[in-house]
Amino acid sequence: PLLDGQVIDDHQITVCVRKRPLSRKEVGRKEIDVISVPRKDVLMVHEPRNKVDLTKFLENHKFRFDYAFNDTCDNAMVYRYTAKPLVKTIFEGGMATCFAYGQTGSGKTHTMGGEFNGKVQDCKNGIYAMAAKDVFMTLSGPRYRSLNLVVSASFFEIYSGKVFDLLADKQKLRVLEDGKQQVQVVGLTEKVVDGVEEVLKLIQHGNAARTSGQTSANANSSRSHAVFQIVLRPAGSSKIHGKFSFIDLAGNERGVDTSSADRQTRMEGAEINKSLLALKECIRALGKQSAHLPFRVSKLTQVLRDSFIGEKSKTCMIAMISPGLSSCEHTLNTLRYADRVK
Ligand code: ADP
Ligand code: MG
Repeated sequence: PLLDGQVIDDHQITVCVRKRPLSRKEVGRKEIDVISVPRKDVLMVHEPRNKVDLTKFLENHKFRFDYAFNDTCDNAMVYRYTAKPLVKTIFEGGMATCFAYGQTGSGKTHTMGGEFNGKVQDCKNGIYAMAAKDVFMTLSGPRYRSLNLVVSASFFEIYSGKVFDLLADKQKLRVLEDGKQQVQVVGLTEKVVDGVEEVLKLIQHGNAARTSGQTSANANSSRSHAVFQIVLRPAGSSKIHGKFSFIDLAGNERGVDTSSADRQTRMEGAEINKSLLALKECIRALGKQSAHLPFRVSKLTQVLRDSFIGEKSKTCMIAMISPGLSSCEHTLNTLRYADRVK
């Protein structure tokens, strides 16, 4: 890895890109790796102009981000530069969000939920769990102990504009907005947690619920946004002190399913497209005094509304990249989207 240990922690918005390694299957079918990371903040796509003759001139696209993680970086390293600096934010009374963006199969769930060992996921080394661990460490440390904060966690999924509770048998939930523009997911399970072990159980439960009842592998999770939240409240109060939201977004390639022959697929594609576009606008508006946030346009941005306002709010986006030539088009779409978030 080219990273030098210097962690940015004064940005309100951090945008990074992560390249996953070629899988064994891809190596087996002689997939070509078209991504390089020449610097700690630069990522290149080497697109063959002539896809038949690969010895021909390569067209290069260069992108600059806060960090570029190459395929030798592990989850712990990615966490250290992305979500970890935001843990402090929620103790200081702010809102923090961390988004995993990218096409299906690029490594969003691997990064957020934990590494896969065959079909089982080891949630201990995912960003959800690593952040939870640091939340409990900070909580018991000298600095914030006197705040007497209580930690709770929730886990839900947004699918086709509807919210489902991953900690309550995927029960469908309503989203309400009160007169003070506070958004509430009615009846969402919020479990008070005393330690990281308890959080791990919830993550495991939610991850399993997320992939259950699917016909073909990954079909459903690629079309839904998963939202894991850690909430801090002063003991005995219902008022939120700080909140960390982690979002494993729907595959961005689904947003182009708008011309599918199947009506359901078409509608889902349109919904995903709409939510990802609104998300970009909402993040961009962070820190600016813009009154017209398009947060109502999609369920995703609506439920995250309080995370896009306030000077103390911070956001981090990790754009995930598949390295193969056959993913080139989606990769460029991902990079262009991430490029415009800031
Ligand atoms: P997504 O959630 O974006 O659809 P996944 O996280 O399910 O993608 O990843 C697809 C496959 O690639 C999984 O088998 C996963 O274990 C593997 N993978 C993803 N990122 C990495 C990585 N950085 N290192 C090794 N394997 C990875
Ligand atoms: Mg996934």
